[in-house]
Amino acid sequence: MDDLQYGTRNKRGDWAPNAHPQIAFFWSDPFNLSKWVKFLIGYIWPWNVFHMAVTLLYWRYLLPDWEVMKTLSWSWALYLYAVNGIGIFLIYGTIEFFYYFKRRQGTRFKYNSKFPSEQPSDVFWFKSQNIDNFIKSYVYGIAMWTVVEVLMLWCFANHYVYWLNWSEHPYWLTFLLFMTPVIHEVNFFVIHRTIHIPILYKWIHSLHHNSVNPSPWSSLSMHPVETFLYHGVIWWHLILPSNPLIALFQLHMAGYGAINGHIGFDKLEFTEDTALDSHAYLHYLHHKYFEVNYGGDGLIPLDKWLGTWHDGSKEGQAMMDARYAKKVARANAQKQNS
Ligand SMILES: [Zn+2]
Ligand SMILES: [Zn+2]
Repeated sequence: MDDLQYGTRNKRGDWAPNAHPQIAFFWSDPFNLSKWVKFLIGYIWPWNVFHMAVTLLYWRYLLPDWEVMKTLSWSWALYLYAVNGIGIFLIYGTIEFFYYFKRRQGTRFKYNSKFPSEQPSDVFWFKSQNIDNFIKSYVYGIAMWTVVEVLMLWCFANHYVYWLNWSEHPYWLTFLLFMTPVIHEVNFFVIHRTIHIPILYKWIHSLHHNSVNPSPWSSLSMHPVETFLYHGVIWWHLILPSNPLIALFQLHMAGYGAINGHIGFDKLEFTEDTALDSHAYLHYLHHKYFEVNYGGDGLIPLDKWLGTWHDGSKEGQAMMDARYAKKVARANAQKQNS
């Protein structure tokens, strides 16, 4: 595909899309039926269908027996860690292999023209972003994901929390299922904005931000506290009356879905004229500029409302620059006063 039909490339070779990301249409045009149809298709297909397929695979074939999960034990916890680890290796590893190792589409649609393997740095273990991110994904990211998962399943197995049946509560559970992306986005914004508070940033979140040019293995390369909070999005399903299938789906949206923001390409080409949209641009800009786009892709546009939205446009850049200038001025004034 010719990526220059969809965007522009600067002198450094970095590509940016012509079409700037938009917040969900219904905030400005709530009664437009055709837009609702288009929106709902994109809401479900392809990413959430994928997460549900993985969830059903776990539910039907991979989860231990509910009787077993009534008692906390290392055996089924380690088993689930292995299941999650293999699942991530297959999904993330496949994308890494074809688009970063084999480079099957070169730098077409790639936001940053460089590949992480071309940029060794002292901030990474073994000076390699790939090795560093890979190890931290397994030692911190997937380990804490599994801890959260085990606690959630144990609570449901013992009926310490509401476990609603689909046959008795079909409308509420369907509604809740549809709300999972909303819950994800709000939870992500709140915890993410919090760990950008300077002291927490230094202690927790800077590890994830070492990857200024993120790639698939950056997705779950997080401090243990961050990954615990991030996957802790499923506590919502322990508070709200829910069902473990929905909680598991919510967890997979976080775990398997983390790759979305870190793919590094705007589109993954499959054939000469078919490609998959990654929706990675806003989070790519977050890794590039740090203090913009704390949330997701504008379903609940908290960034827009709080003035931290950057869609890659000149206006978005000007807003960020103005905010940064104010911050510098404040810091200087404080220095003079002290
Ligand atoms: Zn990130
Ligand atoms: Zn961040």
